[in-house]
Amino acid sequence: MIMKYKHIFFDLDRTLWDFDANSEEVLLDMYNKFDITTLACIDSQEFIDNYREVNHSLWAQYRVGEISKGFLSTQRFYKTMQLFDVDDLSMAKEMGEYYVKESPFKKRLFAGAIPLLESLSSKYKLHLITNGFAEVQYIKLEQSGLEKYFEEVIISEETDWKKPHPEIFKFAMEKAGAIVEESIMIGDDLKADIIGAAEIEMDQIWVNFDNTYAGFKPTYTVGKLLDILQIL
Ligand SMILES: [Mg+2]
Repeated sequence: MIMKYKHIFFDLDRTLWDFDANSEEVLLDMYNKFDITTLACIDSQEFIDNYREVNHSLWAQYRVGEISKGFLSTQRFYKTMQLFDVDDLSMAKEMGEYYVKESPFKKRLFAGAIPLLESLSSKYKLHLITNGFAEVQYIKLEQSGLEKYFEEVIISEETDWKKPHPEIFKFAMEKAGAIVEESIMIGDDLKADIIGAAEIEMDQIWVNFDNTYAGFKPTYTVGKLLDILQIL
């Protein structure tokens, strides 16, 4: 078999690091710490579900540069609590800080993440391209034991671009000393990871855990991480 690829670029959140499970753990901690049950008269699931909805729409604005990181961090809790008639900006700020500070210490990875990286790292050079806050992403990598597998870590906040912008992929390849023909991108986000990589003609493996319909044909699609070993 001809080894076509030399460099594998991974996404981090929701591809290797189980963002939703880790986020839920922190939100539960916060539900108790900030006494949300008394303040807002809601159960923890209601708090989490509403936070997710608010966060999702604010992230869409952050991704296209409409709002800043600090605004996002506070407003996602301010707006969530406002839904339950709690209007307290300073508490929202404290919540935002707590969330950003604590979430990267959570360690849940998707099944097969470590065996996959163990196996791939003996054959390929592995790198990360992640959209996120630098101080958060580095702690996640360290705490979850992922750090040692990656040669280059490209964090959007440290460049001028976010995925799916072609420049962040080009920047990553340059940093890794890679060329597009020998590179492949692995990620869960169809737009940011897969279509983004396809735009610069890099091959892609779409990690489609939820088996959602694409409307776009990635080079490869897998339903779980260890299936990647049948491709690489
Ligand atoms: Mg992702």
